Amino acid sequence: MLSEPVTKLKGVGQKAAEDLASMNIHTIADLLYYFPYRYDVYEIKPLSELIHDDKVTIEGRVVHEPSLTFYGRNKSRLSFTLEVEGIAVKAVMFNRAFAKKQIIPDNMITLTGKWDAHRLQITVSNYKLGPAEDQANINPVYSLKGDFTNIKLKKIIKTAWSEHGDDIHELLPIHYLKSYKIPGRKDAVFSMHFPQNRSVLKHARRRFTYEEFLLFQLKMQLLRKLKRESTQGNTQHYEAVKVQEFIEAFPFSLTTAQQKSLNQILADLKSPYRMNRLLQGDVGSGKTAVAAISLYASITAGKQGALMVPTEILAEQHYQSLTELFGDLATIVLLTGSVKGKRRKEILSTIQNGDADIIVGTHALIQDEVIFNDLGFVIVDEQHRFGVEQRRTLRDKGLNPDVLFMTATPIPRTLAITAFGDMDVSVIDEMPVGRKEIETIWTKENTFERILDFIAKRVAEGEQAYVISPLIEESDKLDIQNAVDLFHQLQEYYPPEVNVGLMHGRLPAAEKDGIMKQFAANDIQVLVSTTVVEVGVNVPNATIMVIYDAERFGLSQLHQLRGRVGRGDKQSYCILIAEPKGEVGKERMRIMTETANGFELSEQDLKLRGPGDFFGKKQSGIPEFKVADMIHDYRALETARNDAQEIIEMNLLENDKNYDSLRKYLEQEFSFVDKLD
Ligand code: ADP
Ligand code: MG
Repeated sequence: MLSEPVTKLKGVGQKAAEDLASMNIHTIADLLYYFPYRYDVYEIKPLSELIHDDKVTIEGRVVHEPSLTFYGRNKSRLSFTLEVEGIAVKAVMFNRAFAKKQIIPDNMITLTGKWDAHRLQITVSNYKLGPAEDQANINPVYSLKGDFTNIKLKKIIKTAWSEHGDDIHELLPIHYLKSYKIPGRKDAVFSMHFPQNRSVLKHARRRFTYEEFLLFQLKMQLLRKLKRESTQGNTQHYEAVKVQEFIEAFPFSLTTAQQKSLNQILADLKSPYRMNRLLQGDVGSGKTAVAAISLYASITAGKQGALMVPTEILAEQHYQSLTELFGDLATIVLLTGSVKGKRRKEILSTIQNGDADIIVGTHALIQDEVIFNDLGFVIVDEQHRFGVEQRRTLRDKGLNPDVLFMTATPIPRTLAITAFGDMDVSVIDEMPVGRKEIETIWTKENTFERILDFIAKRVAEGEQAYVISPLIEESDKLDIQNAVDLFHQLQEYYPPEVNVGLMHGRLPAAEKDGIMKQFAANDIQVLVSTTVVEVGVNVPNATIMVIYDAERFGLSQLHQLRGRVGRGDKQSYCILIAEPKGEVGKERMRIMTETANGFELSEQDLKLRGPGDFFGKKQSGIPEFKVADMIHDYRALETARNDAQEIIEMNLLENDKNYDSLRKYLEQEFSFVDKLD
C-alpha cells in the first residue's frame, strides 16, 4: 500500500527514514511523488562544438588497454585513449581501478565528464559501457538532505517503484488523458524518475503540471462554492431606477468595461450570496466611478457602505470627491486616525445611529470603537495592502457585508487565477476615450538641469509636475532628508513665481492635506515628494512625473507613479532617472518606456521578479507547485481552470462515474473545510 511508511521498504532503516522525513517523505507515496527538481541532460555533440571546462558526454571506441597508476593512500588514476570522430581523445578516471577490466580495446564506451578542449581530454565522472543510448543521457537530480546521495535515493525510489508501482491509480478521467495526449499517472511517475528519453519526460511533466493545476483549481472553486452557500441571506434590494439616474448625472458615459463590471457587482448585491469580488483596472480606468455607483446602489437598499483605503491622503481625497459627487444624495463621513476628540465622537455616533450613509477611512474603520448601524457593503481599495487579518476583523464584529476589493495594480492573469481563485474577478481593461498615452523617457542623472528646464516650460504653460525624490533603502528618515534637500535645491533653481511644494509621510495630516489642496488648486506647481503620492492621488492638471532612482522600484510601482499624470486631456510625460547596474534593471527601464498597458507590464514584472516577490514576501498565498510553473505553464493553468469550472458547474463529481477518483481525492482533501475563513 502506498500509505505505508518508507521503513517497509528493503534497505530503509531508521537513519534513512529520519533523513527521508527531513525531506518530508514519510510514506511510500511521498517517495514516489518526490520528483527530481532538475534533470541533467547530456547530449552528444561533435567535438568541435564542445566547450572548454563544460560537462560533456562523448562516445568513442577504446584504442588500447587502460593504464592504471596508484598514488597516495588508496588513490588511483586510470587513463586510456579512445577514438572519437577519427581523433584520439584522452580519458582520465580517478579511483575507479575496478573499471580497468571492463574497458576493453575496440569496444564502444560512453563517457561523461569535464572537457579540456586544449588537451583533448575528458576527466570522467560517469561512464557507460557500449554506445550512448538516449536513456543514459538524462540524469534526474533530486534535492537531498541528511546522508542521502542522489544515487542512494534513486535506488530506494526504484525499490519503491518495483514493489508498489502497481498501486498507483489514475486520478483523472480517462477521456482527459486522450484529449490532452498525456500519459497515465503510473507511467508518468515512472518517467519522472527514470526518463527513457526527452519526449517521454516532457509528457510526464505535462501531465503533472496539468494535474497540479486542476487539483488546485478544483479546491479553490469548491471552496468558493462552499463560501457562497454558507453566506446566504444577504440580498440588497437596491432601486435600479435611482441608480440609473445617478449614472446619467455623470459628465461622461461609462465605458463598456465599466458597465460590465458594474453589472456584475450589482448582481452580487442583489443575490443572496455574500459578494467576494475583486475589481481590477489600470490606473485611471475609472474604478472609482464604478465604486461610487455601487455604493449608491447599496444606500438605496437602506444599507451603510464603507470605503477603506490604505493612506490618509487617499481617504481625504475620496471623501472630498464622493462628497461632491453625491451632494444631497448621501451623508458621507471621514474617519481616519487624525480625526480626534469631539469630532471623532460625533462621527462615531452618526455611524452608530445610521445618519452616516457612507464611511470613508483608513483601517481606523475597523477598530473596536466603530459600531455600524447596518453595514451592507464594504469596498477595500488597493486590497493587497490590507492583510487577511483586517478583512477578517469586520466579520468578527458580527458583520457579513458584501465585499469588493479594488486594485489598480493589475495582477497578472496567471496570478489572479491562482491567488484569487476563490474570488470572483471583474476587470476594467479599457480606458475612457480620449486619453493620450503618457510619453515615458529613461535618462541619467546628469540631465537633471535639462529636466528642470523642461518642467519650467510646461509650468509656464500652466501645467504641473511631481518630482519623486531618491529612495534610501529601508530608511524613512533618510528618504525624507533627501526629499527636503531636493526641495531646497529646486526652490533655489526656480524663480519665485514657480512654487515648489514638499510632501512626505512624516508631515502632520493637516499639513499633507493643505499641500495636496494647494497642489490641486495649482498654487503649488512643482511637488517634491516621497512615494506617498503613489496611490490614487488625482490632479488632472499635473503632466510631468519625474522619478529619481527609478531602478529601485518594481515595474508595477513605477506604473502606479506614472499613473498620477495623464489624467487630463494634455500630453503627459514620465521621466525615469536611473542608472541600473545589471541587465535586469536595464530591461525593466526599457519595458517601462515601451509598455503603457498595466496588465502587460505586470506580466513582465512577474517574469522578472518571480511570483514570490510579486506581492511581497508574506501574504501572497500563492501555492508551491512541484512540477508546474505558473509563469511558463499559464496555458495549462487556464485549461485547468476551465475544466475545473465545468466540473463544478455541471456537478460532474457526483453525476459522472468517470470522476469518481477525483471525487474521492477531493473528499479526503476537504477534511479542512471547517477552516473556511
Ligand atoms: P481609477 O480609480 O481607476 O484610477 P478614476 O475612477 O479615478 O480611475 O478615474 C480617472 C479619471 O477618469 C477621473 O477623472 C474620472 O472622472 C474619469 N473617468 C472615469 N470614467 C470615465 C469615463 N467612462 N469616461 C471619461 N472619463 C472617465
Ligand atoms: Mg482611483
